[in-house]
Amino acid sequence: MSRNPRYDVLFQPVRIGPKTAKNRFFQVPHASGMTNAAPHVRAAFRAMKAEGGWGVVSTGACSIHPTSDDSPFPFASLWDEADVRSHAVMTEAVHAHGALAAVELWHGGAAAVNRTTRHAPLSPSGVPWMATHVGFMSSARPKAMDAADIRDFIRWHAEAAVRAERAGFDILYVYAGMGYLPYQFLLSDYNRRTDAYGGSVRNRVRLVEELIDATREATRGRCAVALRLSMQELRARPSEVAESEGHEVIQFLKDAPDLFDIKMDYSATDCAASRYTPEGSHEPVVEFVKRLTDRPVVGVGRFTSPDTMVAMVKRGVLDFIGGARPSIADPFLPAKIDAGREDEIRECIGCNICISSWHDGVWVRCTQNPTAGEEWRRGWHPEVVTRDAEGEVLVVGGGPAGLEAALTLGRRGYRVALAEAARDFGGRLRFESRLPGLSQWHRVVDYRLGQLRRMENVSLYPESRLTAADVAEFGAGHVVVATGATWQPVLCNPNELPGARLEAPRVYTPDDLAAGAEIEGPVAVFDYDNYYMGSAVAEALAGQGKAVTYITTAGAAAAWGFMTNEQPLVHASFAAKGIACRTLEVVTGFDGETLRLAQIFSGEAREIPARSLVIVGLRQGGSALYEALVGKGGPQRVHLTGDANAPGAIAHAVYQGHKTARELGLARVSVGRDAPFAPRDFLPEAAE
Ligand code: ADP
Ligand code: SF4
Repeated sequence: MSRNPRYDVLFQPVRIGPKTAKNRFFQVPHASGMTNAAPHVRAAFRAMKAEGGWGVVSTGACSIHPTSDDSPFPFASLWDEADVRSHAVMTEAVHAHGALAAVELWHGGAAAVNRTTRHAPLSPSGVPWMATHVGFMSSARPKAMDAADIRDFIRWHAEAAVRAERAGFDILYVYAGMGYLPYQFLLSDYNRRTDAYGGSVRNRVRLVEELIDATREATRGRCAVALRLSMQELRARPSEVAESEGHEVIQFLKDAPDLFDIKMDYSATDCAASRYTPEGSHEPVVEFVKRLTDRPVVGVGRFTSPDTMVAMVKRGVLDFIGGARPSIADPFLPAKIDAGREDEIRECIGCNICISSWHDGVWVRCTQNPTAGEEWRRGWHPEVVTRDAEGEVLVVGGGPAGLEAALTLGRRGYRVALAEAARDFGGRLRFESRLPGLSQWHRVVDYRLGQLRRMENVSLYPESRLTAADVAEFGAGHVVVATGATWQPVLCNPNELPGARLEAPRVYTPDDLAAGAEIEGPVAVFDYDNYYMGSAVAEALAGQGKAVTYITTAGAAAAWGFMTNEQPLVHASFAAKGIACRTLEVVTGFDGETLRLAQIFSGEAREIPARSLVIVGLRQGGSALYEALVGKGGPQRVHLTGDANAPGAIAHAVYQGHKTARELGLARVSVGRDAPFAPRDFLPEAAE
């Protein structure tokens, strides 16, 4: 197939100062959890996007100096020659596919409290950045930079730029966003200086201007210099001489960088969960920039539709289509559009499991793309699966795990039969994607079903609940059991250890809601799962007009949702929907009329009236079908996968299904172990 001419504009080359990008697809800097400790893992992850057609491929934040240390969060560095070599592995791999390589040179200022290097954090005026925020909490308060500190900072940036060019980068970022040091100078709340770097907007942009100049001079104009700016706050601040302070900033800087990369200011708005935020949500803060500068502009918005991308260019909002999450979910998004295969794009669902990986301090994981982060370690390619198998596999269960297993087994060349008890495929997503805000999650099913329906060696059997006898009769050499998990109607103790089944009227779990149970209000939702399900169920019940009280053992609603940037928005949504929220409590009893609660630390007992109770706590896997098949013995090889094997997020089920399929029938699986480059390799004279 060939490209739809409607999308030609996306494949035009665009100049960025001294460099030219081959098309408008720009993988903007984003966290990957891949530090200099895993140079080959990182290179393979980024190079996959270059192979998939992205014209520019960037690193994540890359510290320029030990005074910017984000530990325990994972971050890259460009501090010395070992780091140069580490990044060179990536730039070489990216260049091999004709893409430009960009590096996000980064200094965290007050937002990086240097837990490992133990330098005093730097800031314009000694004001901390979110120092009491869960996950960023620190008792260290920053130093107010003096004139010498500012000179040092500019010099460090220039020296890092020299190393970046040596590492092979084409585009060097000055990063004035997301609470980091140059951004702190731009905002009057953080910058209270009375010297030439504080006060008026003219003074507050001075540091950014000097950083751009120093970066360009350091590489003598050979590298392009990009400026990444967070605009949410600046755009909202009135100005006496322009439409907003954001407009003023752009007017002062309009000719300074070779490219503007404009974004939001906070993780929850910048990398917003689809549950509360639609595609293209950045446009209101980005749209004015192109009117004020001739320099190309890149911005993001979880773009997966080529028509939206074309509209962004044609409406004069963006020159480059920025992608972070869409490039993780489908590194081959540009190549698919180029080949007229846009209906095969594995669209990001906006679940933010990827960002949770960074919060967890590990390599990126993705719900839609189980190969993300495994390109080098396991040699997994998101599009290419070696056809190395023959024979027949029966997959039982058509949820995320079963669908992914069937797809990957089919690609390996097996004849695959996929049996699903229900009329529709999708497993837990049949229900979950109908919960408020979760409709885009159904893309996990849509992509896989779309692919499976094109495969001649795959047969789909809906409305086929199989027994062990059915499976034996079918006679496939391998059976993959992906029959899912069930929510348990059990309460827990203050340490969230589950107890016995709660015997009382009108006690439900999400499985009952999925089966269509009518819930009588007022209803209490007790959540000790603490991811999305409890809050989503509460929102769904409130949407039916019921009085809802949400109770959790944690200190906040959807406590794990902090990891996926959902939590603040859950609280806002509860307030908007009138859902009462009670934290740090356990449900100790329910008789169909009264709910008994206890504060988890003091044990203080409380009671509230409720007609129904929905418990969102423990999910249990295991499968009677699997037990029966294994117990039977026989010639069939039986493999348990997905939630039936170990219940988790959808990302876990997809990953397990993929892994089961990749490894099925193989005698040996090799897994690579990466290692950092040691400084001694480069500086023997200094070390001797
Ligand atoms: P996972 O997340 O691991 O894919 P799900 O719960 O989403 O798990 O999906 C499991 C699917 O398996 C459900 O759609 C369910 O209807 C189906 N299923 C369960 N038992 C059987 C069975 N014996 N035969 C066919 N399908 C089954
Ligand atoms: Fe998109 Fe979710 Fe994958 Fe992140 S983890 S890229 S949000 S599908």
